[in-house]
This record gives sequence, structure tokens and C-alpha cells, in this order.
Amino acid sequence: MDNNPLTTDRPDQRPMTNDLFAGIEAGGTKFVVAVGTGPDDLRAETRFPTTTPEETLARTVAFLQEQEQALGPLAAIGAAAFGPLDPDPASPAYGRITTTPKPGWAQTDFVGALRQHFDVPVGFDTDVNGAALGEQRWGAAQGLDTFIYLTIGTGIGGGGLVNGKLMHGLLHPEMGHIRIPHDRQADPFPGTCPFHGDCLEGLASGPAIEARWGQRAETLPSDHPAWELEAHYLALGLATFICTLSPQRIILGGGVMAQAQLFPKIQRGVQTLLNNYVQVPEILQGIDTYIVPPALGNRAGVLGAMALAQQASAH
Ligand code: ADP
Ligand code: ZN
Repeated sequence: MDNNPLTTDRPDQRPMTNDLFAGIEAGGTKFVVAVGTGPDDLRAETRFPTTTPEETLARTVAFLQEQEQALGPLAAIGAAAFGPLDPDPASPAYGRITTTPKPGWAQTDFVGALRQHFDVPVGFDTDVNGAALGEQRWGAAQGLDTFIYLTIGTGIGGGGLVNGKLMHGLLHPEMGHIRIPHDRQADPFPGTCPFHGDCLEGLASGPAIEARWGQRAETLPSDHPAWELEAHYLALGLATFICTLSPQRIILGGGVMAQAQLFPKIQRGVQTLLNNYVQVPEILQGIDTYIVPPALGNRAGVLGAMALAQQASAH
């Protein structure tokens, strides 16, 4: 059997050519930029801190120009970015990071900055939609057409595909900002979200854990009560997404999910909350392969961006 994901003949995954794609993982703290044909053939990669948009995008362009000199022309570029952003090609604000509170970045014309230097298709989407597409092509969501990818990190964000298409709609989902039950007697912490206080992100992001317990999340011992509470909030969020989107799988990435003990707690929590109502084997018996970490690990971001490039070149 041919196990190479790049030569699959599934219709949603056309065989790869030798086309060179660029992937830009544009995070709030760092950028990762890579060039290659796929996960097993990354020819060059660099990373640098996110500073001003001018400086950061100029560094990105300079790296890609150097790679074109060394490796040949790029077939397409994909950018998976922190948001909110406008991914709708028909919108006047297409290609921009829009209302971000990140200093200097609001209204940055990301795609425009790339188009000034490269005359190739550009794919542009949220970091989590990119990661979801990468996981579908090469990772934990192969063969699925409806699933979600959530990151639990500095913020909480969610993206994914429904019926084989990346979720967009009005703009893009904001799964981190849903409201969940918050028992203020059990947990008086008011939440950190500047817009909503105790939305899911406000209660369960890495900075929320740090603010509630007075120390960075990565320094809390694995048996600390923080993790029961964290799993409880994430299970509440996931139960909502399961009931609204009916995802075939849920992938949980981001720095906080490095706490592997969270997975069984979240899995049991979701089962308890759903209370046998959603009668499918994935939830009743197979929940440990239903709520999973990303198979691409910490490369999910940049490979997701590369998957966006591939998708842009195919359209
Ligand atoms: P970003 O969201 O900025 O892309 P991350 O996904 O790494 O970056 O998330 C950073 C957050 O994750 C921080 O709040 C940090 O405290 C938390 N974090 C990082 N590593 C761990 C860990 N091993 N355990 C728990 N929390 C962690
Ligand atoms: Zn919020």
C-alpha cells in the first residue's frame, strides 16, 4: 500500500507535483515561514519574533525572495494568521488583519504586502483554519470532511471544515468567545477577555490560568486543581461545538494542551455533559480517538499555511 500522503489519489487531495509552496504562520508572538512541497520535503524554514507589521512583513518577503533565488519560483503562498482578519476575497477588507488589539497591526493589509512582491496565488485564512486544513491533508483529520481544530494558548481559537469546506460565513468562527456556565462560587475569577470577561477564552486561555492561580500555566504541577477546572471549561465548550456542528473529530492544540493529563479529563467531561444523548460510537466508546492532539504537533501551524497555499494554487 502506498502510505505516502503526498501521492494519495483521494479527490480532495490531488497528487502533489514538484510545485514549491510557501507557508507563513503568522502568530502574535512569532512568525514561522517555510518553503517546500509538503511535510516531508521542507527545503527552508525560518522564524522570527512578531514586531511591527512593516518590519515583520519585510522580513517575510526578503526570506521568500531569497528562497526563490535559491530554489526556483514559488507556485503559491499561504498565510495562516492571528485575527480577527478578513478572509473573504469579495470584501473590500480582504487580506487584512482587522480589529486586533495587537499594537500596530489593526487594518494591516497582509495579502497586499505579499502581492506587491509576488505574482502568484495567495491563500489567507485564520491560524486555526490553516491548521485544520493541514491536519486534514497530512495529519489527524485525514478522510474527514467535518471537524474542528481548537488552539488553547495565549487565546482560544477554533476553525475547521464543514462538508469539506473551511468555515467562513460572515467572517470566520470565534469559538473562543462563546459563553459557558461560570459558577462564581466555585470559581470567583472574573475572566481575562477584554470584550467579555468570562467567555471561554477569558476563563480557560493560558493567561487566564496564570491570572487565576498567580503563576504561569507551565509551572503548575500536573495534579494541581487548575487542571480539573480547565478540563471542565473546555468540556463545556466542546459539548456546545458537538451539539452545534456535529464534528467527526475534535483536534486540540496550543501550548496549554501540552498538559497531556487534560485529554482524559476533557474526554470524560464531554461524555458526562452529553449524558448519552449523542448516540455514536465515537463519543460513547471511542472518545480517546475523537478528542485528540494534532498529528502534526508544533508544525501544524506552518504546514497549515502551506496547505492554504496549495489550495489557493488549485483554485
Ligand atoms: P500562542 O497562543 O501565542 O501561539 P502557545 O500556543 O504556545 O502560543 O500558547 C502560549 C500559552 O500557553 C501561554 O499562556 C503559556 O503559559 C501556555 N503554555 C505554554 N506551555 C505550556 C505547558 N507546557 N503547560 C501549560 N501551559 C503552557
Ligand atoms: Zn471573549
